[in-house]
Amino acid sequence: PPRREAGYLDGLNPEQREAVEAIDGPVLVLAGAGTGKTRVLTTRLAHILATGHARPWEILSVTFTNKAAREMKERVGKLIGEAVEGLPWLGTFHSIAAQILRRHAELVELKSSFTILDTDDQLRLLKQLIQAEGIDEKRWTPRYLGALIDGWKNRGLTPDKLPEDAKYQFADGAGKKLYEAYQARLQILNACDFGDLLLHNLTIFMNHPDVLKEYHRKFRYLLVDEYQDTNVCQYLWLRLLAQGSHNLCCVGDDDQSIYGWRGAEVDNILRFETDFPGAKVVRLERNYRSTGHILGAASGLITANRSRLGKTLWTDDAEGEKVQVRGIWDGEAEARFVGDEIESWVKGGRNHSDIAVLVRASWQMRAFEDRFLMLGLPYKVVGGPRFFERQEIRDAHAYFRLVRSIDDDLAFERVVNVPKRGIGATSVQKLQQVARANGVSMAEAAQLMTETDEIRGPAKTGLKTFLRDIARWHQMADTMRHDELAEIILDESGYTAMWREDKSPQAAGRLDNLKELVRSMGEFDTLEAYLEHVSLVADIDTASDGDEVSLMTLHAAKGLEFPLVFLPGWEETVFPSQRALDEGGTASLEEERRLAYVGLTRARERAIISFTANRMIFGRWQSVLPSRFVDELPADHAEAISDTGYYDSGPGFESVKETPDPFVSSYTSPGWKRYQQAHGGGRKGSPAVIEGKANFVETSSAGSGKWKPGDRCFHDKFGYGTIKRADGAKLTVSFDKAGEKKVVESFVRAEP
Ligand code: ATP
Ligand code: MG
Repeated sequence: PPRREAGYLDGLNPEQREAVEAIDGPVLVLAGAGTGKTRVLTTRLAHILATGHARPWEILSVTFTNKAAREMKERVGKLIGEAVEGLPWLGTFHSIAAQILRRHAELVELKSSFTILDTDDQLRLLKQLIQAEGIDEKRWTPRYLGALIDGWKNRGLTPDKLPEDAKYQFADGAGKKLYEAYQARLQILNACDFGDLLLHNLTIFMNHPDVLKEYHRKFRYLLVDEYQDTNVCQYLWLRLLAQGSHNLCCVGDDDQSIYGWRGAEVDNILRFETDFPGAKVVRLERNYRSTGHILGAASGLITANRSRLGKTLWTDDAEGEKVQVRGIWDGEAEARFVGDEIESWVKGGRNHSDIAVLVRASWQMRAFEDRFLMLGLPYKVVGGPRFFERQEIRDAHAYFRLVRSIDDDLAFERVVNVPKRGIGATSVQKLQQVARANGVSMAEAAQLMTETDEIRGPAKTGLKTFLRDIARWHQMADTMRHDELAEIILDESGYTAMWREDKSPQAAGRLDNLKELVRSMGEFDTLEAYLEHVSLVADIDTASDGDEVSLMTLHAAKGLEFPLVFLPGWEETVFPSQRALDEGGTASLEEERRLAYVGLTRARERAIISFTANRMIFGRWQSVLPSRFVDELPADHAEAISDTGYYDSGPGFESVKETPDPFVSSYTSPGWKRYQQAHGGGRKGSPAVIEGKANFVETSSAGSGKWKPGDRCFHDKFGYGTIKRADGAKLTVSFDKAGEKKVVESFVRAEP
């Protein structure tokens, strides 16, 4: 192929260049944080394209987050100086596997329109199955079963491949049966969960060699970032796909393996050379990201881990400032400290977007969010499925899913009585019963029951309104922008009003989230595209590149970098986490330490670690000890700052506590005003009601046909009676005591 001007290679060091140019055959880049692994991968992609070795659709590139995928696409375009058309196979494991699965869904007995369940849907399903088996769900929780099934899937185990003893991990041997039942339910629902995406791919590739061959021909080059965090299933998937061209390049760092708890196997790195004989292994040692002190502190910390390959890292950068370590009275003071520090940096000319606050667990975010709102500091919460897993967001999605497809039973159950429409648990159970007995969707069952006397009063009215509304919105979808429609749905359903009337402290935040949701929907062309995106995103993807402080978990920060980084909450039981301490073994503790290493190595210029003396953990005050990781920081590169400010712990802190909050006056700050305005009344009135076809649910329930006029029957609620008319699954019965009623067939038995 013709060689073009290769300006994109300039500035790479010799090892990086070697990794970029060795495009034929397997390559493993094994190197520490900030050594340019991701940069190598991006440049390599550009190089393959620029030299004409492959076209954009012939390259499979796997990134860890959707955001990273977007960035890579952008950078490749910049490197080769032209907009890159397509790159359709650049994405996360999940998004690529979903794409492949949609093309061959019928091979695993799904329709290509399958839905991808979120965790919440998954838990609800599991709960039903556990209950159906009569198992004590308090002792054997849906969450635990969900985790087991995820774990099995991550290891590539379909129910038939499950080792004999694995089933005993749940409810005295019910594990396998429940796993099978769960998979069967998913199939009926035309749905799959996250783990299935790759697992179904594996099944397809193994059972249909012709399909696998098609992808062998298709993917001439394969690139994988963050290889240390692949699980067995992902590894098998890659290995199958790479058997075609053998042009597989993986980059990773064993010291940054932080998903062991989710089944990632750092051994995949060690196996690389065995599995791909003749693989070229490239090591990079120069760190381009951090100052000497930051790198020194991180490198010192990680040496406490026993199980590691071991690497040297050096930098040409200045030493910079030592890593700061601060002891603080409590969590609120810590949030105040971080807020102040940020304000003073911004006054000094830094951007908000230069700054990140990285926490161990998402519950730690609230204090910072509160503080930032109070100060009017712009911030965003990045990473993790947090945003999309919020209750209000999931409720909203359920409405949208229903409007798209009325047969979405999980969505139906979720919101049929949210906000309250008088449709209680008993009514919902009846709906489920009718749906199951007649083999129809919940919505169809509901339609049926609004035409009979099984339920009455508010429940009946509630159901009617609900069905009518959904039908109306469904029609509006043809003529209206989907984000406008979303807003209308949330308003007219009474959902927004429900949170406006809610007096809990979180309500305002929820309304904010709903607004953000509608806003972000506008970035997609269709509702369909948006919902597909939602089911795939593993990170928040607000995609606003505004000037905002980033708040995220350490896990979500992997691969990113910021000039200024806060690392709060370095306390025993917070970080390392209580769970890691409970497990007791070195493995989980070492994983926590790698997480600390990831955190420190995100910083380019400054890193500030803090710990508190007292912490409210799950509603209880506890005094806490500084993290062991604080002690492990090498003294040459870290310094404890102990001024006498009100953040300080130590003698005198009692009086500090009584000091009135110096920031109470900031209620009048511009940010707070903006906040209040945003939450004040003044919402626009409901849009005019557009009359739609009242019924888009056809009651097509055929009924069994076994009832004839004149037959005697018995009904639990209405007693004995005589059938007058049978209309599909709907019966008109003259009851001896209750008089004439319409009932659903499945509630009626032959006279005992
Ligand atoms: P991590 O392990 O955290 O994912 P990484 O190894 O992927 O890190 P990159 O993010 O690719 O590292 O690079 C770290 C920083 O160093 C980036 O800002 C990148 O642009 C810069 N960098 C990498 N290589 C070079 C180079 N040869 N010259 C100048 N800057 C470089
Ligand atoms: Mg990287």
